[in-house]
Amino acid sequence: MSVERLAIVGLGLIGSSIARGARTYGLAKHIVAIDRDRHVIERVQALGISDLATTDAAEGVREADLVILCVPVGAIGAVAETIAPHLKPGAVVSDVGSVKAAVVAAVTPHLAEANAFVPAHPVAGTEYSGPDSGFATLFSNRWCILTPPDGANEEAVERVRALWQGLGAIVETMTPEHHDLVLAITSHVPHLIAYNIVGTAADLEEVTQSEVIKFSAGGFRDFTRIAASDPTMWRDIFLTNREAVLEMLGRFNEDLSALSRAIRWGDGEALHELFTRTRTIRRGIVAMGQETAEADFGRARTAAPASVQG
Ligand code: NAP
Repeated sequence: MSVERLAIVGLGLIGSSIARGARTYGLAKHIVAIDRDRHVIERVQALGISDLATTDAAEGVREADLVILCVPVGAIGAVAETIAPHLKPGAVVSDVGSVKAAVVAAVTPHLAEANAFVPAHPVAGTEYSGPDSGFATLFSNRWCILTPPDGANEEAVERVRALWQGLGAIVETMTPEHHDLVLAITSHVPHLIAYNIVGTAADLEEVTQSEVIKFSAGGFRDFTRIAASDPTMWRDIFLTNREAVLEMLGRFNEDLSALSRAIRWGDGEALHELFTRTRTIRRGIVAMGQETAEADFGRARTAAPASVQG
């Protein structure tokens, strides 16, 4: 099912990947790109990934059948308020925000009954931002979670589902609250741990910065990739999914205390038992096609670049 006119608000990593994918896989007859930033619009025009690119949100959404909000979570409500009076009856609104309950609460009050809201979250991304960082296959074989409200318009849900399936995603449906709890442990807390560990290493006085970089392949390097993620996006995620993150962080802290105790008392059996269980989880993720089985994430086995060798 192809959409007549698709409008994308926010042409960063996710928005520009949707635009590229929609064009590549023929999912929309007309693609409209909307961003508040004139430089982003100029880049989008130069890249040729939309039929129309504008900073005028009202004009951009006017004839759209499907509007996808791809701005940071904290800005989605304000954008919904701006575009709502300009939507045509029957236009479906969706988003890609990494948090769902707060987004539903921020968007729903602004939309007319004739404009269904079908929230979505593609569980796919990289640590890069902006229109140049997107690519058409970003969502291929990745999950996209829809959180439609009870009694949602079936046709509206189908329109959004068809877009994500067309982009290559595997679509699953759940409530916004359940989504936020699941993502707190699978995505939000891991990012917080990465931000924290990279921050701690950077603060260590007895380890010079060059040593942190030099020996980073000992595990630290993989945290730095996550900790390089967009600061605005992640600030908004922690501010809007506060309860679920704090709940999961509480459990994490308890388990970390148990691990500290096992190390202090030399309980090798407890450590070995946990590390065996976690290895099974990694293998399960690889078996589901969500990660490569290649050693070291498939990194080329060459010497580290000269600049990193210090
Ligand atoms: P991004 O690359 O930083 O792009 C966001 C774009 O939205 C930027 O061009 C930004 O412009 C624009 N924008 C911000 N506020 C706006 C406003 N009020 N009106 C119009 N445009 C505005 O971000 P992204 O990584 O694509 O993330 C976008 C959304 O996708 C977020 O809600 C995020 O939670 C979700 N998401 C991200 C990932 C990921 O891994 N990155 C994965 C899944 C879902 P400025 O540069 O001027 O701010």
